[in-house]
Amino acid sequence: MFSTLILNAQNLLCFGTCVVLFFLFFNSYNKFIKNIKIVKTMICLGIESTAHTFGIGIIKNRKILANVKDSYTTKKGGIIPQKSAEHHVEICDKVIKKVLEKAKLKSIKEIDLIAFSQSPGLGHCLRIGANVARSLSILYNKPIIGVNHCIAHLKIGKLLTEAKDPVLLYVSGANTQVIALEGGKYRIFGESLDGGVGNFLDTFARHIGIGFPGGPKIAKLAEKGKKLIEIPYIVKGMDISVSGILTRLKQLYDSGKYNKEDLAYSCQETVFAMLIEVAERAMAHCNKNELLLGGGVACNKRLQEMAKQMCKERGSKCFVPANEYLIDNGAMIAWLGLLEYDTGVRMKIEETEIKPYERTDDVEVVW
Ligand code: AMP
Ligand code: MG
Repeated sequence: MFSTLILNAQNLLCFGTCVVLFFLFFNSYNKFIKNIKIVKTMICLGIESTAHTFGIGIIKNRKILANVKDSYTTKKGGIIPQKSAEHHVEICDKVIKKVLEKAKLKSIKEIDLIAFSQSPGLGHCLRIGANVARSLSILYNKPIIGVNHCIAHLKIGKLLTEAKDPVLLYVSGANTQVIALEGGKYRIFGESLDGGVGNFLDTFARHIGIGFPGGPKIAKLAEKGKKLIEIPYIVKGMDISVSGILTRLKQLYDSGKYNKEDLAYSCQETVFAMLIEVAERAMAHCNKNELLLGGGVACNKRLQEMAKQMCKERGSKCFVPANEYLIDNGAMIAWLGLLEYDTGVRMKIEETEIKPYERTDDVEVVW
């Protein structure tokens, strides 16, 4: 009698386990199928407007149908947030028209989801992208999602390369961060303590009178540089600092003893070596074997060369997306919007306020 009871209890337990396993399997299968369906069928339009670039990208089925941008530039002087925002207002109509044309879509009606960069960035500029996204969402009755710009850089890099679990060396105008996924969040393992490397290059370029954006112009000058001038090399643990270097570079230029070419060359060699040092330290710390580059400064051929060399020496892989997707772009916003929508993220219009100061590691990663 007792043994029959035990036998029945065992059968019951076995049956219960099977039911639980079946539900678990059914749930994840359902989610898997649903995800494939959304990523495959939905068309997402992403709007980027964190700083100087107003860009729109359209993605369907992991394919970038179109990616159009128009950037605010100056001949002299740096970026003025109000002027950059005015630029975005002026050209947004034109960019929308062009991106739809390139994607071979007749109207916004054919879009399923509107994504926009909600954080971080210049308030003046973020506001324009958010307003355009809200207007399209309300006018055409489409769902809307705001995403984090820095994480979008990482995600588009993963979409376009074979990187699986990389450390991202993200070097843009305002942001310089070494980011990796650890414990459910994109954590910042190293960063600039006092300003993005892009802004640093732009400020030095402005000082020597070569206009904005300065990074590509400094890169051109550096190709002709021959002499490595000693300037401060500032790495503090996992972080770097550039303000002291900027002051020194300005002093050296103002002394009249050094030419622009040698200064540009020394500036690149020193600051890029600092970036590679902290990126390598983060890779060792996180035990990761992939480095992904992102951000406008990553277009720099010398930085790419140094990153590849470092990865080769430690037996790791280095991934560099095409320039169009390294600099700020709408396609990366569309892709992150789709990924988030896939995992059930939904936003009401009231939740789409911009977050100029949001940090990468504030974002809970659910996708
Ligand atoms: P982003 O904010 O990611 O669009 O990047 C813009 C920044 O990238 C600006 O500060 C530019 O000066 C910089 N940049 C663009 N191309 C290059 C390059 N080839 N070398 C260095 N910096 C660059
Ligand atoms: Mg950027």
